[in-house]
Amino acid sequence: MNAIKNASQDIGIVIEALAFAAHKHRDQRRKDANASPYINHPIALANVLANEGGVSDPAVLCAAILHDTIEDTETKVVELEEKFGSRITAIVLEVTDDKTLDPDVRKQLQIEHAPHISPEAQLIKLADKISNLRDILTSPPADWSIERKQAYFDWTEKVVAGLRGIHPGLELVYDTLYARRAELR
Ligand code: ZN
Repeated sequence: MNAIKNASQDIGIVIEALAFAAHKHRDQRRKDANASPYINHPIALANVLANEGGVSDPAVLCAAILHDTIEDTETKVVELEEKFGSRITAIVLEVTDDKTLDPDVRKQLQIEHAPHISPEAQLIKLADKISNLRDILTSPPADWSIERKQAYFDWTEKVVAGLRGIHPGLELVYDTLYARRAELR
């Protein structure tokens, strides 16, 4: 009975994170030519973690779903803490860029910080890079040149270098996508 109760609590908080993130991102679109709903991206991360990585920790799945709420919506830290608790909020904050900094500085800081963040945050970073390479290969931003796509691939490789060892299976998924760099057009 306890096992059933715990499993339904785990699913409950993950669904709550989905509902919360869907609401917060409701007016945002991705940069692909079809302008996909933004929420597809956090859902893709959770899907990579759960179904390709076998990750079952609900805190990791929730933080993946919530990973862009602080960075890209008006969500406040205290709001996440009240709804999802301090552990999930701390993981989200570890993967949140400081948007007051220049994009190039933010990119450099991701490379430098990757080896020092928590294992939970490292898993989310890795899933984020997997999901973004996939998007660039299959439905890239309409206005990105081949050089910009290649530069993005190369930057992710430097971030992922700092995450190596966290999950060999997902690292192989990443490597297989990176190997398709020559397909970029
Ligand atoms: Zn992301």
